[in-house]
Amino acid sequence: MKDVYILAVESSCDETSMAIVKNGREVISLVINTQMDTHALYGGVVPEIASRMHTEVITLVLDETLKKANMKMEDISAIAVTYKPGLTGSLIVGIECAKTLALIYNKPLIGVNHLIGHIYANNLEDKMEFPLLALIVSGGHTELVIMNNDYEFKKLGETLDDAIGEAYDKVARVLGLKYPGGPNVEKLALNGNYSYNLPKPVMDNTYNFSYSGLKSAIINLVHNAKQRNEEIRKEDLAKSFQIVAIDELVRKVEKAFKETNIKRLVVAGGVSANKYLKEEMQKLCHKYQAKLLIPRLLYCTDNAAMIGAAAYPLYLKKEFSDFKLNASSEGSLL
Ligand code: AMP
Ligand code: MG
Repeated sequence: MKDVYILAVESSCDETSMAIVKNGREVISLVINTQMDTHALYGGVVPEIASRMHTEVITLVLDETLKKANMKMEDISAIAVTYKPGLTGSLIVGIECAKTLALIYNKPLIGVNHLIGHIYANNLEDKMEFPLLALIVSGGHTELVIMNNDYEFKKLGETLDDAIGEAYDKVARVLGLKYPGGPNVEKLALNGNYSYNLPKPVMDNTYNFSYSGLKSAIINLVHNAKQRNEEIRKEDLAKSFQIVAIDELVRKVEKAFKETNIKRLVVAGGVSANKYLKEEMQKLCHKYQAKLLIPRLLYCTDNAAMIGAAAYPLYLKKEFSDFKLNASSEGSLL
């Protein structure tokens, strides 16, 4: 079969990224232009600024992606783009760019779900084999699903309120840490001890998650301490939060290992960049003799290579999008 080169576009949040991915697994080039420093000034992503910055750099990112790969648009097999979930204005910039390229160069267009992109980032490391358990841990999602094949998802459970990444970001904010919060909480926790007694989410009989109770407990604890002029041991609080938050993921994956007998786990989404999470999942997989896949840091955070990887099975099945493809903030897997 002829090699397939997918040009992928990702602009769902505050990264403008493009990549060329060969046969769904080999990254030929990847460019990521992050707006992080700008949004850090405001303590979080400002949607209007994000979309404007995408429009400013997107053609430059395209030129650089082609140049790095030493390829021309004529060499490309299809154009893939994230169409959901994400910030609507940001998504539209990428979608319009992808549609324009598909129209001018007469290439198939492939709309990709960003969450599925995070899962397929694992294919850039090692070929995913099925059935597998996929744990999605991001700023907007916490889900545990079974995949029986490419694009076949069966949801076991999800968060009933806040996502784990959201909890990390709120805890960071209340501790006075800079945006983006997750990595900064992790850094602070490195020098802390587990010494705060925080409420554990109680969802023992289901695969669902809940992080709002834990988040609120920390916000209240910090506010009460401020009112009483008491000092917070920030490192200890960060550590205690991290242990409670991630142990909950471990417990649910362990339940799934026991009940499904599936011997493979892939972790996906921004929070999979967390080292403590990785270590705990490694221990768990060792205990159940399961194979663990977590993408390298570059592919954990938002990037277009994962979109190219996720577009490949759709390309093979000729599941192309038409020019009505539009942005959606809705987040379900299919
Ligand atoms: P995503 O929604 O997949 O783009 O991932 C972004 C989320 O991942 C944000 O909530 C970040 O705070 C979180 N995140 C990124 N790196 C880490 C980390 N090292 N530890 C915990 N959370 C992280
Ligand atoms: Mg993401």
